[in-house]
Amino acid sequence: MSLQYIEEYRDASLARELVKKIKAVSHKKLRLMEVCGTHTMSIFRHGIRSVLPERITLLSGPGCPVCVTAQKDIDAFVALARVKNVIVTTFGDLMKVPGSGSTLALEKASGADVRMVYSISDAVAIARENKSKQVVFCAVGFETTIPTIAAGILMAIREKTDNFSIYSANKLTPPALTALMETDGVQIDGFILPGHVSVITGTHAYRDTFEKYNMPSVIAGFEPVDILNAILMLIRQNETGTPALENAYPRAVSDSGNVKAKQIMNQVFDICDASWRGIGHIPSSGMRLKKSYEKFNASIKFSMDMPEVPEPKGCACGQILMGLKTPEKCVLYKKKCTPMTPVGPCMVSSEGACAAFYRYS
Ligand code: SF4
Repeated sequence: MSLQYIEEYRDASLARELVKKIKAVSHKKLRLMEVCGTHTMSIFRHGIRSVLPERITLLSGPGCPVCVTAQKDIDAFVALARVKNVIVTTFGDLMKVPGSGSTLALEKASGADVRMVYSISDAVAIARENKSKQVVFCAVGFETTIPTIAAGILMAIREKTDNFSIYSANKLTPPALTALMETDGVQIDGFILPGHVSVITGTHAYRDTFEKYNMPSVIAGFEPVDILNAILMLIRQNETGTPALENAYPRAVSDSGNVKAKQIMNQVFDICDASWRGIGHIPSSGMRLKKSYEKFNASIKFSMDMPEVPEPKGCACGQILMGLKTPEKCVLYKKKCTPMTPVGPCMVSSEGACAAFYRYS
């Protein structure tokens, strides 16, 4: 499908046409996972679930960076906020995510200097203007965000802003897909792959996982026509028994991705193992600062060594992020856990599956 203008990707008659095609080709019961939180929100916002045949189930995946940030990392952000003369800078979504005993929002209310920023360059600017303090940026993101964080480090070096550091809880998408495929009980018939992550990684980043598991996979944009088209492609692959790795977002995603962004990312970061909230340890799924950039590493600067902590009792975020449960199956959903009193990050984040269910279903 090749359209020229963004309005066309929101065109109701095109969307209706795709729904008709989906109904015509769909015969099998299928479980399709939208890996990315932005897809989850778009699917809910445009009512896409309600127009699909009942046999098609959409599952939310591990593609919301706030939702998969390990509780020990949230505890580290809180601990940093308690250090004298430290300013913690963060994206807004992280403010209310509960750690073991507190949140950044609560720490701010108690007098800590926690500031919301829209980009890492805002955080570097705060460091530039507050030379007598240490400024830490809570780095939580996937391939889309990591190059900008790397660029922020290079900016701090250029302008000799040495009172700046980051705590990296960055994560990579393809290893999470591999981990899902290796998890007992996970039943997925196709991946709707994230559009903006793929702009950076390119289609080829998923090739190894695809070749190993033969899982139908389609990269999708975020407009309703994009998503319906990707769903149609996944259904066709399943119905005809021809799994493929396809790119339904060619207006933004190429096979090799954004080479420059990847260069910057790999200049500053090394791949490392990482802990994913509710999912656990995933090999080679994180990014930590290279040794040569260690002076910008807040974990080292502040000797942070946070212990692993159990998830809040009853919170099913991990199972939801792996497609094993839907939010309404969590015993705390809409009872103890609401957007005003979130127990887990999936209810806090604007891209979280529980928040989307709460708001739209
Ligand atoms: S409803 Fe709340 S407690 Fe339950 S899984 Fe979602 S975030 Fe966790």
